[in-house]
Amino acid sequence: MRLAFLFLCLSLFIPDRQGQAQINRRSRTPQIPPPTILEYKPRSTLIVPEHEVPQAKFPAVDFHGHPPALNSPGTIQSVVTAMDELNLQVMVQARGSSGTALTRQIQAVRAAGMQDRFVFFTTVDLRSIGPGSGARITSQLEEDVTAGAVGIGEIGKGFGLLTRKADGSRLQMDDPELDVVWQTASRLGIPVFVHTGDPAEFFEPLDFENERWLEMALFPNRRFNDRSRFPEFNELMEERDRMLERHPNTTWVLAHMSWYTQDLGRLGELFDRFPNVYAEVGAVLYDLGRQPRFARDFFVKYQDRILFGKDSFQPDEYPYYWRVFETEDEYFDYYRDYHAFWKLYGMGLPDDVLRKIYYENAQRIIPNMPTNGFSGEN
Ligand SMILES: [Zn+2]
Repeated sequence: MRLAFLFLCLSLFIPDRQGQAQINRRSRTPQIPPPTILEYKPRSTLIVPEHEVPQAKFPAVDFHGHPPALNSPGTIQSVVTAMDELNLQVMVQARGSSGTALTRQIQAVRAAGMQDRFVFFTTVDLRSIGPGSGARITSQLEEDVTAGAVGIGEIGKGFGLLTRKADGSRLQMDDPELDVVWQTASRLGIPVFVHTGDPAEFFEPLDFENERWLEMALFPNRRFNDRSRFPEFNELMEERDRMLERHPNTTWVLAHMSWYTQDLGRLGELFDRFPNVYAEVGAVLYDLGRQPRFARDFFVKYQDRILFGKDSFQPDEYPYYWRVFETEDEYFDYYRDYHAFWKLYGMGLPDDVLRKIYYENAQRIIPNMPTNGFSGEN
């Protein structure tokens, strides 16, 4: 009966092209007002095995930690309590503090008896660079490392994107004035943790084909598509690559996998070209979890070059990482709607790869890493 009706409709409309166009148009126009992008949250009806992973399978190092300033016993204890629940053994304080802001935290952590749970990176002040800045930064760096810092970073995305030199021009990442800083990091044997750019979509027109439309609409300061004010995504990356190229003995860790997770092949080329470069997985889980097979192969191939890191310190978000890395679950929710409107899938990484990503790689590239608490499975 239904079929007969369909044939009737078809025979009425197919003969002329205008009629066909009308059918197409009609079939695409909802007969009730459609929901907005914020309203449409379909509940999944799919029933498949689910494996929540509240704790990492192996003790983890958060290479990209942004806990609050660790100045007081109360704050330190509350962060450690959250870490214990997640099986986070060590957190890198990557807020990048220097001078007294750094030493105060190091001392407070020691006083609390928690020196096995936190390590500290220092920062470099890249504002108003001019002749002599490199030497100034280097002497502060040496002081901070003597005080206990074991890395530089996170150097924020302002470097390359926003930071201006003393003469008002944009500070390019490969500015020769900074060479002495990166050479000093190499001499001191500490990694440099640098965040460059942001998702490539932020540099593209804000139209209805942009995957990050919602995020760009929500956050005006994440729109870098005004070419009169910002470099292009690829221009930034080329500039960064020239910096890497000039410093083959410095250990570089690229935050957010260099925002290349929508094109892991490109990150692979970078790894192949620069053996001293590592990448950290913070805030790009949405991309890994939508390509679980390709990402798994990539993680297996580059298992010595990838580090776990989370970025913003929200304890309830870490288990999404454990679940993507450890399980083969399918089509499960992600935690932030403006990063991704899609669901995630588990990569099912092998144990030896998980161990490297969770802690072995971090232990290898960060000097004086605590070793307590890293024996065995959770
Ligand atoms: Zn960060």
